[in-house]
Amino acid sequence: MAEELERSKAEEPKDTKPGFQNPVAGFGVTFKAMFKKRLTEQYPEQQKTTAPRFHGRHQLNRHPDGLEKCVGCELCAWACPADAIYVEGADNTDEERYSPGERYGRVYQINYARCILCGLCIEACPTRALTMTNEFELADSSRANLIYTKEQLLAGLEEGMVDTPHAIYPGTDEQDYYRGLVTEAAPGTERQVAHSKGEVVQEADSTFGGTEPASEKVIGR
Ligand code: SF4
Ligand code: SF4
Repeated sequence: MAEELERSKAEEPKDTKPGFQNPVAGFGVTFKAMFKKRLTEQYPEQQKTTAPRFHGRHQLNRHPDGLEKCVGCELCAWACPADAIYVEGADNTDEERYSPGERYGRVYQINYARCILCGLCIEACPTRALTMTNEFELADSSRANLIYTKEQLLAGLEEGMVDTPHAIYPGTDEQDYYRGLVTEAAPGTERQVAHSKGEVVQEADSTFGGTEPASEKVIGR
């Protein structure tokens, strides 16, 4: 034991500078840092660009005609180590279709109070319906606001898309969508009535106040 103590004392670095030089040496570190590149970020006034493959908020993608890629399989939820995803699938019908195949994601939620943005869910998704964006400003003071719904996660409509529900492109099947053969909505594609969401068709008011049937369909809740 005594030998070990002596050995450790012998190994301790010896301070060879005179006592008054130590504070000066400390300022030397500060002085050198003055000429280094600044690392301070002026967030949020100046936003930093993230790396292209940054793991940010999720997005539920659409096919080029606007139908949803999610088939409600729940594989993303099973892959999530934080139990942050909740999915409920449902059957499509010809009158109310959200995706080209049999099933779609009726309810889809991600709880960002749990999510660690690891990306395992997007690896598990068989249809590339789920990907991650570069958006990172997810902080909120309310837990409820951190649960993002399908409506918040669903990608916006781009040119050539019609909002769901709507019919599949005539003459195609689910496989054609995954082969990339459908590039836009078929001419004349109209949004269907989402009965499962409580939507009803209201007849538009006649301009002349008569009894003629309205030519326009108005969808309301
Ligand atoms: S990124 Fe990771 S933690 Fe977040 S929902 Fe996906 S699997 Fe779960
Ligand atoms: S996002 Fe992908 S993995 Fe998750 S339910 Fe939809 S299709 Fe399945």
